[in-house]
Amino acid sequence: MKVVLRFAPSPTGPLHIGGVRTALYNYLLARKYGGIFILRIEDTDQTRFVPGAEEYIIESLSWCGITFDYGPHIGGPHAPYRQSERKAIYAEYAHLLVERGWAYYAFDTEEELEEMRRRFEAAGMSAPQYNAITRSYMKNSLTLPPEEVQERLRSQPYVIRFLVPRGREVRFYDEIRGWVSVHTKEMDDKVLLKSDGMPTYHLANVVDDHLMGITHVIRGEEWLPSTPLHVLLYEGFGWEMPKFAHLPLLLRPDGGGKLSKRDGDQLGFPVFPLRWRDPFTGEVSEGYRERGFLPEGLTNYLALLGWHPAEEREIFTMEELIQAFSLERVSKSGARFDFEKARWVNQQHIRKLPLERLTALVHPLWMARGLPSISEVQLMQLMALARERGALLPELIEAVRFFYEAPTFPLPPEKESKLNPNLVEKLPQWMDHLWALEPWNAASIEAFIKSQAKSEKMTLSQVLPALRLALTGEEMGPSLYVIIELLGRVETRRRLERFLAEYGVRREV
Ligand code: GLU
Repeated sequence: MKVVLRFAPSPTGPLHIGGVRTALYNYLLARKYGGIFILRIEDTDQTRFVPGAEEYIIESLSWCGITFDYGPHIGGPHAPYRQSERKAIYAEYAHLLVERGWAYYAFDTEEELEEMRRRFEAAGMSAPQYNAITRSYMKNSLTLPPEEVQERLRSQPYVIRFLVPRGREVRFYDEIRGWVSVHTKEMDDKVLLKSDGMPTYHLANVVDDHLMGITHVIRGEEWLPSTPLHVLLYEGFGWEMPKFAHLPLLLRPDGGGKLSKRDGDQLGFPVFPLRWRDPFTGEVSEGYRERGFLPEGLTNYLALLGWHPAEEREIFTMEELIQAFSLERVSKSGARFDFEKARWVNQQHIRKLPLERLTALVHPLWMARGLPSISEVQLMQLMALARERGALLPELIEAVRFFYEAPTFPLPPEKESKLNPNLVEKLPQWMDHLWALEPWNAASIEAFIKSQAKSEKMTLSQVLPALRLALTGEEMGPSLYVIIELLGRVETRRRLERFLAEYGVRREV
């Protein structure tokens, strides 16, 4: 059997990284079993529609490398893939359920419903509200005479409600949680079709999963309470059920609840994959992309949030994830988000990235900072030095600060104390030799410095720290020989001259 999976977001805002993880797990399984992966936009709740959200979802997933076979942006055999464009289909199925005795028409006004809620509250009872008991005294096709029902259907707004059967245990198997069982007395008669003719989430979701041939429904834990109703809907329609799997929540780093945008803001990490500008408030939220994550770093980290690989290993490419992933190894308990770990995973991917690609990614960031223009070859050399020294792309630019920022003198006293007067005295002569050095590369620079030190009877630890301070103002960093090569003859000389102007004996010209 061919597996068919779907990701079914509602365009009510930017996609949260929890949503990216749901999409990712669906994608991994679809690809692992050579199946089909569908994007379906669940936009039937027009009151929660946010302009730009659908485009954002598509762009985010595409940046993450999560690709679809069918969707609103691609088309496919069951198009349209946007639920608001499938309205007529759902109404037809809602009426079919009424015919089959699994649903009924309800005519209650807002005031009447409110009145019922008040009675519930007064009796100290909480939800469910419209259920086997209350339905018997509300205005619906179960309580009103058939002629009145027909008359009301013609003349006033109505909804279609699901008729939850009495006295039954609804059982279903969840691929992550095992058997789940809920008694129908815990369930209420949810609205399936609203008075504006739009379906609710439950109806549209089940009808589309059936029509699109979905074999596995993998979604967040927050949908688990809806599943018993979905199971009964499948029964009412007489359709075969897909397999269900409900993914554990993404928790705050301290484990104390669901990870929200506010937690991210407070703790200083993004919760969205890409930058998002709220169209109503204008508020801008930074995304993982802007923070300097690689898509493969983010997806690798998200894969580990709730799934445990069989082998002792944490770094995976997307292809490797596809091979290794299985629902059996997804845990039931919530997964704590750990930004430091996310950075570490990203760093491993930065180290693995071909240097050309890394350079191509850093180049636009370099230019956007207004740094001096640089050739690709030069930037590539810099990135070869920097790649071990940063977890996020902007940190790689920080790691080669020496290149675009000359040190300022005088140095702070704690650094000044590291300058070796003996070296400072000899430096003018060294400079002359260095200036003439051929060829100009790290190896010859290294050989030159070592032989100079030897002939002056100085150890490298007496030479290198002071030279590094003179050239970069820093006490530590990448190989000094490579730094000198990359600075080039002219800039090296310029910096050493400025250094000597501060600390050395002024040279006669
Ligand atoms: N539209 C729902 C959401 O926004 C889909 C839930 C499901 O996958 O069934 O998450």
